[in-house]
Amino acid sequence: MSARVDVDGTTAALPTGGPGALGAPWSSGVRRRPDGEVEVAGVGAGDLAAEHGTPAYVLDEADFRARARAYRGAFEAAFEQIGTGVDVYYAGKALLTVAVARWATQEGLGVDTASGGELAVALRAGVPGAAIGLHGNNKSDGEVLAALDAGVGRIIVDSLVEIERVGDLAASRGVVAPVMVRVTTGVHAGGHEYISTAHEDQKFGLSVTPGPDGGTSPALGALEAVVARPELELLGIHSHIGSQILDPSGFEAAARVVLQLRADLAERTGVLVEEVDLGGGYGIAYLPADEALEPAPVARDVAAAVAAVCSELGTPLPRFSIEPGRAVVGPAGMTLYTVGTVKPVTVSPAGGGSSDAEPFTRLYVSVDGGMSDNIRPALYGADYHAEVVGRLSDAAPVLARVVGKHCESGDIVVHEVLLPGDVRAGDLLAVAATGAYGRSMASNYNALTRPPVVAVAEGDSRVLVRRETVEDLLALDQG
Ligand SMILES: *Cc1c(COP(=O)(O)O)cnc(C)c1O
Repeated sequence: MSARVDVDGTTAALPTGGPGALGAPWSSGVRRRPDGEVEVAGVGAGDLAAEHGTPAYVLDEADFRARARAYRGAFEAAFEQIGTGVDVYYAGKALLTVAVARWATQEGLGVDTASGGELAVALRAGVPGAAIGLHGNNKSDGEVLAALDAGVGRIIVDSLVEIERVGDLAASRGVVAPVMVRVTTGVHAGGHEYISTAHEDQKFGLSVTPGPDGGTSPALGALEAVVARPELELLGIHSHIGSQILDPSGFEAAARVVLQLRADLAERTGVLVEEVDLGGGYGIAYLPADEALEPAPVARDVAAAVAAVCSELGTPLPRFSIEPGRAVVGPAGMTLYTVGTVKPVTVSPAGGGSSDAEPFTRLYVSVDGGMSDNIRPALYGADYHAEVVGRLSDAAPVLARVVGKHCESGDIVVHEVLLPGDVRAGDLLAVAATGAYGRSMASNYNALTRPPVVAVAEGDSRVLVRRETVEDLLALDQG
């Protein structure tokens, strides 16, 4: 990656916020003022709501930048220690806007894209082509050509047919396409543990495990197919093992498999690929009790594993790259809602005959958004944390469930959270750590308009993506 901006004072620790900060899972700029109102980077929740309306995604710019620096700093330090370099790409699918792409670039990160649309946002932001990667298991010819025309630094190819297609398209443009081959290592991670299976039943990548007839693995076959095409330059091997990973041993296991494959390819073809990318997936805190993965120890462990395996295999060290998305933008964002209907519901615990379980009351707190602005609770059963942020209440906390306004009982924003017993219509409520996969997975279900993305820095807020209007929706409808 050629274009990077050097950042002074690079720090390898995640930002935690100073005195008065609410702490994780909130961004480092979130504090409760003495009068009880919560502020983000100096801007009060009330002012944010008054100026931008609710619901709104609020991004703490300094926190995003600090996390980008922390990942870059930690991995650069660890890999420098073992004698090689590292590139950090921000995975744009977590949240990509023109400003966000610029922040990533200014902090010395590249930008990974997974579609022509994401590529267009990165290019609009002025991200140099060389610092952009293009992913996807089903890229269109148009997307590949757009990437070639932009001079992207790497196209991560995902199948044999795609290798031939990218080769043909590069030939048609008279260019050589820089490619990495995405492989599946059998290592899957996510949540608290990783599992290892020989054969993969999923759409991404090419397996390192030979098929039933033995012989060459699909991954090795694909690498050889790239080597055979003069229109393709084989940069390296790519592996992405999962998301929201809290047990870093999966990264080490995947590194081992990829480095073995690299050595096998070198032995068969004499080509030793220069780069190994281990993807993203670094886990964050969603709840106050969660422990995020800290970049420095992960970087040290992965670097140590890479050094050890390369030394065992007798191969020189590769250049390394990673692609954090959630870990950079997730904690930097929160969603600000206004409370509407509040309804106590008496719940009889499931189990029919068991008479020892007492009925209890759950307070259903409805907000002015829901599954259209955060699909993750409905899609993955994801847990979030919420607080009333417009005032401090001394009412006793009650068990609450934050729900949206959609026509669906699964429209849950926060499954379970303690909120002040006097939570009421008009209260401002914020949900923490919604920066990643919130806006980027948002929909218009029930013809709700998607909320704006508002950045806050040093006491000022500005709109990065404006709120959709019903006119926007009607403009698409051809009647
Ligand atoms: C989703 C994805 C990432 C980012 O994952 P996070 O969990 O957001 O860090 C990185 N690389 C690839 C190939 C991905 O598909």
